[in-house]
Amino acid sequence: MKFVSTRGGVAPTSLDVALAAGLAPDGGLYVPERVPQLALQHAGATLAETASQVLAPWFAELELQSSLTELCNDAFDFPAPLRPLSAPGDHLLELFHGPTAAFKDYAARFLAGCLSRLRDPAASMPTTILVATSGDTGAAVGAAFHRRDGFKVAILYPDGRVSPRQAHGLGCFGDNVHAYRVDGSFDDCQRMVKQALADANLRAHVPLGSANSISLGRLLPQTAYYAHAALEFRARHDAPLNFIVPTGNLGNALACWLAKRMGLPIGEIVLASNANDVLPRYFNGDEYAPRATIATLANAMDVGAPSNFERLRWWHRSDAELRAAMRAFSVDDATIRDTIRHAPDRHGVVPCPHTAIGLHVLEQLRANGDSRPWAAVATAHPAKFETIVEPLVGHTVEPPPSLAAALARPATTTPLEAGSEVLRYALLQE
Ligand SMILES: *Cc1c(COP(=O)(O)O)cnc(C)c1O
Repeated sequence: MKFVSTRGGVAPTSLDVALAAGLAPDGGLYVPERVPQLALQHAGATLAETASQVLAPWFAELELQSSLTELCNDAFDFPAPLRPLSAPGDHLLELFHGPTAAFKDYAARFLAGCLSRLRDPAASMPTTILVATSGDTGAAVGAAFHRRDGFKVAILYPDGRVSPRQAHGLGCFGDNVHAYRVDGSFDDCQRMVKQALADANLRAHVPLGSANSISLGRLLPQTAYYAHAALEFRARHDAPLNFIVPTGNLGNALACWLAKRMGLPIGEIVLASNANDVLPRYFNGDEYAPRATIATLANAMDVGAPSNFERLRWWHRSDAELRAAMRAFSVDDATIRDTIRHAPDRHGVVPCPHTAIGLHVLEQLRANGDSRPWAAVATAHPAKFETIVEPLVGHTVEPPPSLAAALARPATTTPLEAGSEVLRYALLQE
């Protein structure tokens, strides 16, 4: 299986090269030359077993293939339950049972396992994984590489724009993981990371790696939980399952689409955006027009230029074909609040602000007479956003054990001005 760049400027390359590189050398995103077709049946497989089956075609003929089972056992060792909600046909796909209570744990752990195995054992200097985060990516990547031999992590997050518990979760690792709180926006953090990764002189002194959502090592493993839920659903109900995916950079939803394209029993895919409505506008017929980011209650989805859109477009011959592949809706902050407030009564769950966006879209579909089975994706645990959620539902939300353990550890973060020179200096000092 070979991978090419969305921008066409790279010779077909193998997955291990693409994993180590992150971004393609021509500035594009790696995409597989063709999508393998699977004819899987659900036979009581665990999530880790389904992950191995779904990921196997990408790893054929690679040295990494012999580690695939172990990689999946390590990364997929917590469940992704498909929880029925109050009304028949409504489900929540809970992806928040990992160490940092957000769906990004699965892929971050899988990528960390791959990069560990791909690392040259003779390399003398550790690789510093640089990650810009609006909250959840940084924690997931920090947790995945914490105390991993040969790696350091430098996390950059916008000071004051992540929830208090998210901030604590970024600073609580210590050891080889260092969190910088940047005096700027998420876009500033992302720009600083991109400039550092493009700085050959810096990289000669400080070997750098990336783990952002454009990495194939994040995209591919995310197909596993969609495959698992859809296969389990079909085994029980003999029908495809439709998904509503809270969307920011489009990594999670693209994985759902890829799983469908691989032949898994997935019906319709609906993107649920916050007030950053670049995708809903596009899918409703406007030109694709990236914009400056708006801060919302669902901060992990505050993205004005979804990076994976380039992949989605590459896979379709025309805008018309792409617009026929999925729908997208935008949900504002007032509606997020309203949905959280009523979710315990209406659905029997307490959602985080991101998950609430998906639940609202589900309510809209039902109001419009849609009677098909749907799974809204729960992307984070509500306790991570307790300052928003608790006042709305009127009671405390207990953090799951892993989050409680992180909150019990002390947290340290380092202030950093926004700017590539400042980051360069900090990395040379590490
Ligand atoms: C990252 C994140 C999202 C958005 O996922 P994308 O893959 O960027 O579209 C949604 N919800 C939560 C809680 C997240 O952490």
